[in-house]
Amino acid sequence: MAESDEFRSEVVEWLAENCPNEMRHPIESDDDVCWGGRGWAFQSTAQEIWLRRMAARGWTAPGWPKEYGGGGLSPEECRILDQEMRRIAARPPLEGFGLSMIGPALLEFGTEEQKTAYLPPIINGEIRWCQGYSEPNAGSDLAALRTSAVRDGQEFVLNGQKVWTSYADRADWIFCLVRTNPEAKKQRGITFLLFDMQSAGVSTRPIRLISGSSPFCETFFDNVRVPVANVVGEIDKGWDVAKYLLTHERETIARGGSNLFDANDLNAAAAKAATQTGGRLADEILRAEIARAAIDTHAFEATRARYLEETEQGGSLGPRSAVAKLTGTEFNKRRQELLVSLQGLESFRWENGASESSTGRSWLRSKGNSIEGGTTEIMLEIIAKQILELPKD
Ligand SMILES: Cc1cc2nc3c(=O)[nH]c(=O)nc-3n(C[C@H](O)[C@H](O)[C@H](O)COP(=O)(O)OP(=O)(O)OC[C@H]3O[C@@H](n4cnc5c(N)ncnc54)[C@H](O)[C@@H]3O)c2cc1C
Repeated sequence: MAESDEFRSEVVEWLAENCPNEMRHPIESDDDVCWGGRGWAFQSTAQEIWLRRMAARGWTAPGWPKEYGGGGLSPEECRILDQEMRRIAARPPLEGFGLSMIGPALLEFGTEEQKTAYLPPIINGEIRWCQGYSEPNAGSDLAALRTSAVRDGQEFVLNGQKVWTSYADRADWIFCLVRTNPEAKKQRGITFLLFDMQSAGVSTRPIRLISGSSPFCETFFDNVRVPVANVVGEIDKGWDVAKYLLTHERETIARGGSNLFDANDLNAAAAKAATQTGGRLADEILRAEIARAAIDTHAFEATRARYLEETEQGGSLGPRSAVAKLTGTEFNKRRQELLVSLQGLESFRWENGASESSTGRSWLRSKGNSIEGGTTEIMLEIIAKQILELPKD
């Protein structure tokens, strides 16, 4: 038996024994996601058991080194685990910016002390992270950020404001870009800092959205003191860490978490809508669009798999993360439009602020996909400059 077959059998057996039945349903809304963190209240015993069992094997971060509590799996083994989890519709046991963003950045740029201190609590779902990048006048032009960090002995003193900080009001720690050298060229005077959201002087204010929920906040820093030891990479050279982290963020958004690009719910909605018309949708154009969406999804998944194979030796996708993000998010928006077309007004049945169907909310949420992690226009710019090497003008 080939090594990979042996590993697959081991995974199948282990999942059969250890994945609770309640965790074998696709995630339908934010309420089903396990984010972890100090204040996390598990939605069910099954959710807690599932996290504990997966974390004990290091399979919440299957590709991270074992010495920090990860699974130590090869890229091929990670793929097999992913495939087998999908086969039984097993939910990811844990989500969050720790796993998708700051963890990979620490593995690349962190000191040994930082990796040892921060990676195990991420893997075990003990600390929840948020991302302090955007500011009121620094979004696409991120390097224009102005939150200042002034050195005072072995600490920095921070003052300023971040915006669109997803889940800042629920996060335990933040990874944050600050300006440490106002004299240097924009990108050069930026430092990448980590600190506890409970630090004196940190406050957050949720921003309410059209979808009814409020995933993000304005975040304010008023003389927040952060140890110099919490710098990732070098002082004034945080831009390199920031850019590396963004490639992981874009890949994650492209993948859309657990089931964003899964064509199954589209097929199921089509089948349900067709029951009134003899098993076949009456609208020819809608039929063709659904078929196209399914084909595009498969093509996209194949391209993503190829990209990830090409980076098997570690590292990030680099500018190819912009291709993945652009394509994945545009597909998801189209898929959400199709779901709304299939369900019609039912998608928007709102009662007491809560929708009876998640379709309308997901459709509204998908609008943000082509903004978060860098807008579609910025992705096109990266592709034009860094992949196609087109002339500037
Ligand atoms: C759902 C969601 C979650 C988010 N979560 C976080 C988070 O956790 N932490 C965080 O720090 N930020 C977060 N953001 C913020 C996000 O990173 C920014 O919204 C994004 O980078 C765009 O910045 P902006 O909103 O300032 O828009 P702007 O940069 O002002 O852009 C406005 C418009 O101008 C276009 N534009 C700007 N510059 C150019 C250019 N050079 N060429 C062509 N077109 C251009 C843009 O494409 C856009 O259409 C989140 C955003 C969303 C939607």
